[in-house]
Amino acid sequence: MQREKVDVLVIGAGPAGTVAAALINKEGFKVKIVEKQKFPRFVIGESLLPRCMEHLEEAGFLDAVKAQGFQQKFGAKFVRGKQIADFNFSDQFSDGWKWTWQVPRSVFDKTLADEVARQGVTVEYETGVTDIKFFGTDSVTTVEDAAGNKKEIEARFIVDASGYGRVIPRMFGLDKPSGFEPRKTLFTHIKDVKRPVAAELEGNRITAVAHKPKVWIWVIPFSTGVTSVGFVGEPSHFDAFTGTPEEQLRAMIATEDHIAERFEGQEFLFEPKTIEGYAISATKLYGDGFVLTGNATEFLDPIFSSGATFAMESGSKGGKLAVKFLKGEQVDWEKDFVQHMMQGIDTFRSFVTGWYDGTLHAIFFAKNPNQDHKRMICSVLAGYVWDKENPFVKKHSTILKTLAEVVFIDEMEG
Ligand code: FAD
Repeated sequence: MQREKVDVLVIGAGPAGTVAAALINKEGFKVKIVEKQKFPRFVIGESLLPRCMEHLEEAGFLDAVKAQGFQQKFGAKFVRGKQIADFNFSDQFSDGWKWTWQVPRSVFDKTLADEVARQGVTVEYETGVTDIKFFGTDSVTTVEDAAGNKKEIEARFIVDASGYGRVIPRMFGLDKPSGFEPRKTLFTHIKDVKRPVAAELEGNRITAVAHKPKVWIWVIPFSTGVTSVGFVGEPSHFDAFTGTPEEQLRAMIATEDHIAERFEGQEFLFEPKTIEGYAISATKLYGDGFVLTGNATEFLDPIFSSGATFAMESGSKGGKLAVKFLKGEQVDWEKDFVQHMMQGIDTFRSFVTGWYDGTLHAIFFAKNPNQDHKRMICSVLAGYVWDKENPFVKKHSTILKTLAEVVFIDEMEG
């Protein structure tokens, strides 16, 4: 069997893999990405957070992404009936980017992959990992192309950025169930000919509609005039709808006043897709000769659009630590990777929990929201979940419940 040698093998050419590969390549190490699919390929995860702009910039991707003319995103709007909580990233507590993009991921991910290739990284498409053997920290990975040809790749380190493929967690039994209740989603892209264009700036933010206590809808407009729309929630909600996926989604849309008229009869660009039970975790995030990044680590929930940002955060951290390892320097994976990632993931975990148990609904839709708190929450929604100056980061596990109680008492008294 043909065999080749690299310093780092990256599995997967999504945001986690391309960011990691760019940073390792910049340091002069030989890095190769193997990607199972042909690009462009569909993947969900279209609303980015301002925090990820720092990673795009550091990886040298920013200009290439800017050139695509994606829809700029300046905030996040939450709607429940007639109530609206509108967060604008320019009005946030932490220092950082005030905007980001809403992107069809097929185009966005191809832009990153083409850019990393332009920087000198080899990206092999339609090449899937079928086996990995570790010898200490060195490894030999078997890959197979679309024609069934196999070869082996020797590497000093592996960055697993295989997303939902979860190559190393599956191969080495590292998958761990998520603590969240199982949830389901049904979504498509819709020709949004009735998109409001007025001063409400509907297009330049994500809208999350709280449809029922445990069911919500994302509305993510793209610059192409197409909008991504998806229902997310407990699986039993979906059981009440029958027919084809398109019939089901159309019937669901008709039940929500905020979107019913806008999307009634509009063209769906593909048969609605379902994903179920997507929340997943891993028993360990690194090991001898490898690190898990992006969705190969842990995925919580789409409500706060944190997935692609965590993918880039972990790709950046993991890539930099891999460089340290290759240079023979001591790496504290536990402190510099696991603790760092878990700080961010756990902050969002508290917010996701608070969204589904109603705590955040009480805060977001309070009659008189406290503007300082709103700015602090806005920073979390922008992905700045490492700023310990922000009480909503530092005390994320308790502060939401406490604040919801204060809001409740205020509203009872007022
Ligand atoms: P991916 O982008 O999935 O890339 C992994 C790549 O690895 C793929 O291209 C795959 O082909 C390749 N691969 C897999 N197996 C192999 C193999 N054996 N060999 C070689 N290559 C392989 N995130 C957001 O930021 N914003 C959102 O609005 C958002 N909405 C979401 C909505 C839903 C319903 C869900 C389920 C998720 C959402 N996410 C969102 C999360 C987002 O989809 C992911 O977090 C993000 O795509 C992870 O990026 P990644 O680089 O880890 O993996």
